[in-house]
Amino acid sequence: PESRVINLSAGPCSLPEPVLHEAAKGLLNFNGTGIGIAEVSHRSKEFHDYLVEVEGLIRTQLGVPETHSILFAQGGGALQFSAIVLNLLARHRLLHPDLPDAERVMDYVVTGWFSEIAVGEAGRLGGGEVNVVVDSRSHSKDGKTFDNIPPHEAYRGKFSPDPALIFYCDNETIDGVGFSDDTASPTSFPFHLLPKDPKYTLLPLVGDYSSSFMSRPIPHLADHAIIFASAQKNIGPAGVTVLIVRKDCLVDVDAAAKLGAAPVPYTMAYKTLSDNFSLYNTPSVLAIYITGLVLRRSQELGGVKYYEGVNKRKADKLYSVIKEGEAKGVLQARVKEGSGRSLMNVVFDFGDRDMQAKFVSGAEARGIKGIKGHPYVCTRLSIYNAVTEEQVDTVVAYMKDFLASA
Ligand code: PMP
Repeated sequence: PESRVINLSAGPCSLPEPVLHEAAKGLLNFNGTGIGIAEVSHRSKEFHDYLVEVEGLIRTQLGVPETHSILFAQGGGALQFSAIVLNLLARHRLLHPDLPDAERVMDYVVTGWFSEIAVGEAGRLGGGEVNVVVDSRSHSKDGKTFDNIPPHEAYRGKFSPDPALIFYCDNETIDGVGFSDDTASPTSFPFHLLPKDPKYTLLPLVGDYSSSFMSRPIPHLADHAIIFASAQKNIGPAGVTVLIVRKDCLVDVDAAAKLGAAPVPYTMAYKTLSDNFSLYNTPSVLAIYITGLVLRRSQELGGVKYYEGVNKRKADKLYSVIKEGEAKGVLQARVKEGSGRSLMNVVFDFGDRDMQAKFVSGAEARGIKGIKGHPYVCTRLSIYNAVTEEQVDTVVAYMKDFLASA
């Protein structure tokens, strides 16, 4: 079509249109160099200055303290499922060289598809034992669906006293479940239940923020060892992953290997990335460029606080029309109200496949795309930062019409 549609895809997904126009110019001529961004050397002064700016945009908007470095990697969120294990087991080895591997414990909070992949990867890589702190399926309506954030009580006494890492995924993109950023809420991450022993004040807490990064402030950001996010939801195209790494986690992986830890590929070692200002190898200059344009725009609009307000309103509007659909018996929200509903990925099921297919084709006829969920009978509306409130209003209007005729 000539004009653009409303793209509710889960990622890659919508990017702000003004950014795309700006990026088109940069593709021909980056910052007045006469060289396009995809053609410019990553070692040029212009790109170096740009990377400094992008780092600053993240630091300012999220309030990242100087205790933490901001790094840029490739390989997506999935690569980080491996990198966190390798780097943090190396760190644990340096802290406790004589501990047998069976006592190097990695704590995983499992609330959905991606945390399950993460825990599987930790098990595969070995070098430590996996402890599933909590698996939300055991708190679900049928014992097998990731449809909730477990109550705080479920974690009590379950964290290991001195783990190599503690993993959680802030927003589960596929299941549509996420932690609340209000630490007083029962669906927030239970920061208050983490081990308190002063010996372990630098907890190796890891948050996968791939699908919620920059959509709102990050609670207890400074208490995290590592926060990672692949760009292709809220902040840019696929090809770059943002890492926020506390400096004690920039460990000398070769020194750890001498003590028996697994060798870590340099492309995955946080210290190597940091020592080389994220330019150890050629980064995805184009993806970083577009990410920078998105973040400049976000700063102008008011940053994560601005987006938090808009994103909550967008999600409220969708969940409220879903409630109407439930009252009519036409559809069912995946996650119950108060059980950890995602603000980014709104997931619901039609009991019947024909109804689902009709909903999807009706949406496409109105220029609303990317909503077929995963698996087939579920529907997912992804409403990342670039999806405007006006677009959500259009989707709500469509859903109301659909329900009226259902
Ligand atoms: N974690 C989450 C929460 C995700 O949504 C995704 C991707 N959809 C990943 C990890 C994996 O990221 P990537 O595909 O960039 O490797």
